Parts: sequence; structure tokens; C-alpha cells
Amino acid sequence: MILECKDICKSYMQGKMELPVLKNICFQMEEGEYTAVMGPSGSGKSTLMNIIGCLDLPTSGTLLLDGEDVSRCRDDQLADLRLKKIGFIFQSFQLLPYQSARENVALPLVYAGVPRRERLQRAGQVLESVGLGDRMDFLPGQLSGGQKQRVAIARAMINHPRILLADEPTGALDSRSGAQVMDLFDQLSRQGVSILMITHDPGVAARAGRIVYIRDGILSDNDEGEEAEAEGGGGYEEA
Ligand code: ADP
Ligand code: MG
Repeated sequence: MILECKDICKSYMQGKMELPVLKNICFQMEEGEYTAVMGPSGSGKSTLMNIIGCLDLPTSGTLLLDGEDVSRCRDDQLADLRLKKIGFIFQSFQLLPYQSARENVALPLVYAGVPRRERLQRAGQVLESVGLGDRMDFLPGQLSGGQKQRVAIARAMINHPRILLADEPTGALDSRSGAQVMDLFDQLSRQGVSILMITHDPGVAARAGRIVYIRDGILSDNDEGEEAEAEGGGGYEEA
């Protein structure tokens, strides 16, 4: 099992009121699985992703990542886990604007203590593999949205993470660049990479092996909210 969430709860304090955002999330992923997470805006998708990605801690519950109990980890241990086991991809790319594509991709290796020469060489190889061999020395501002996201994917992959997490990776892209990014996810999935991806786009989600749904902080394997929606409940946000 690459990922096991047991009764994960997350609440935020709003003044003196406790606002529950995630409610007893139970979820497992086998190694090599490709899972899409869908759900309306504000339902808790990013909150869950940030907890799974060790960027945030649950209020209660247990999270096992690659068999390791993350919920008991100290900050420095979490940072280490993020570096070694997790690749994270954001809607807004999160590239450093004044570093070249190659330097952006090599960045995780700086923290891993890899010598500069080897860093740049490895970054070059991963950029080649995402089809950006001819864009290595470009700054993010000189790249299209789709190219930026492919740089971000290369950066996420450079340490050979155990799991790739993506929060609406095509959310800021036009359909053609989105399709290229999705092709890349398919390719990684075929190579055996475990992928957990949030998306609003049913066409994107359909490419995953499995779809789970979050509504009001509750995760389920089927879209039980459908009926609520027909009765006038909250619908899915526009992509
Ligand atoms: P989604 O990604 O599904 O759109 P989020 O996980 O970003 O939803 O947010 C879920 C809910 O948690 C929202 O109601 C949001 O306002 C609330 N929330 C998220 N982060 C915080 C925070 N740091 N403090 C307070 N409330 C938050
Ligand atoms: Mg979100």
C-alpha cells in the first residue's frame, strides 16, 4: 500500500468556532494506482492533498505513506519525506521566475545535497523525457503554460518520488496544453508511478484508473452528491 488514510479529520478555527473541513476520510491507494479526486469547490480537496503531501497535518487520524506513519513525524522528518517520497504539482506551476527550466528542475537535488554538475545533468535528462530538451535554458516567463507545467512535472519526478500528487494540474491550461500534460501523466502511470490527482474536468478524471469524490469533507467511491445536486444542492465548479 502506497497510501493509507485512516479517519483523517481536519478542522480550522474560525474565531471560537471549529470548522470541520475533512470528516473521517478513509482512503487507500495501492502502489502504481492512478486515482482522480473530484468534488465541488470548497469541498476539501486541496486540504486533503496538502495533508497527504505532508504540507499540513491532520487534526486527527492516521496517515501512512509508503508504510510510514506520517502523523507522528516532526517537521524536519516531514521535510525529509517530502523531498524523498513525494512529487507535488500545483495548478499555478510554482516555478522560480529567475531560474532556468533546468535549474528549477534541479532544485530538489540542491536540498538532497547532490553536486551541481550532477544536478544539472540529471535535470537535463528529465527535461528531455518530458519533451523539453530544447527549452532547458529558458526562464519560466519564456515558456507557455503547458511547457511550465511540464517543467513542474519534471521537477516533481527528479527524485523518483514514491507518489505523485497533482492539485488541478490542467486547471490553468488551454485544452491542447492540458491534453499534452495528461499524456505525460498517462506515460508516468504506465511506468508504474503512483498518481493522485485532483481535477474538475470529468474528461481528465476519466483517464485515471479510479475516481473518488469529496463532498463537504466526506470522501466516497461514488458520487452520492448527484441526487443532492438535482435537488438544488451545490454543483461542480466550472473548470
Ligand atoms: P477545495 O480544494 O476542494 O476547493 P479546500 O480544501 O481548499 O477546498 O478548502 C476547503 C474548506 O476549508 C473551504 O471552506 C476553505 O475555506 C477552508 N479552508 C481551507 N484552508 C483554510 C485555512 N487555512 N483556514 C481556514 N479555513 C480554510
Ligand atoms: Mg483546491
